[in-house]
Amino acid sequence: MKSLSPAIEAPPALIELDKVVKTYRLGPVVTEVLRGVELEVQRGDLLSIMGPSGCGKSTLMNIIGLLDQPSDGIYRLNGREVSHIDDDELSAIRNASIGFVFQSFHLLPRLTAAKNIGLPLYYRRVDEGEIDQRIVEVLEKVGMAEHGEHLPNQLSGGQKQRIALARALVGKPSIILADEPTGALDPRIGQQIMDLFRELNAKEGLTILIITHDPKIAQQCSRQTRMEEGVLVDVTGQAA
Ligand code: ADP
Ligand code: MG
Repeated sequence: MKSLSPAIEAPPALIELDKVVKTYRLGPVVTEVLRGVELEVQRGDLLSIMGPSGCGKSTLMNIIGLLDQPSDGIYRLNGREVSHIDDDELSAIRNASIGFVFQSFHLLPRLTAAKNIGLPLYYRRVDEGEIDQRIVEVLEKVGMAEHGEHLPNQLSGGQKQRIALARALVGKPSIILADEPTGALDPRIGQQIMDLFRELNAKEGLTILIITHDPKIAQQCSRQTRMEEGVLVDVTGQAA
């Protein structure tokens, strides 16, 4: 509802998707993967997205993460429409606001854990002293202070995911997007990663979206959604 007094209007939702559609065209075949996704995410939400393989969860996450754009519909990030802005601006906003975590970690094998973590900042030409300081901070946050000089193949799966999470955090994002972050881990180790997400959400108010196949992980999120036939259904029933 529109307020008559702009001065007391609530701040915009952090993420707002309005009838977001995504179609893929392979030759003559057009597949409509997202068919009008509606989603509002508030600052501090810890939200899970479930749904069968191939239903469009990663497609949605790529759009929310500004790695891809909707074919139709509107995406507002922090109140600003980002559905149609150019690539340079997209990457600037992405770098400043979003951190990614993937199932298969995506660490560069020849770089130490610390160098992997610092990579997003080297690209952004942040001052090296500042980078080193931030690496130490995020290593500590993920419980890996002793492991900065290890190469990825000297780390367990759970440790690799902690390093990947540190890399996602190093740019001080307001949103973490995690695509099946526990999918490659034993349940006990996956739970440790989930504990970290919960801690970051509770202590730092970080907004976190987690795609998962594991109902035990989804249940630990304050909001749970499910993708069904190209739209999102709010399982927890809170206002979307
Ligand atoms: P999920 O993450 O839920 O498993 P995806 O979002 O990866 O699903 O994929 C959803 C559907 O979109 C799948 O049918 C997939 O084949 C299709 N798809 C994904 N990316 C592309 C692409 N770049 N070109 C064509 N089809 C794609
Ligand atoms: Mg996927």
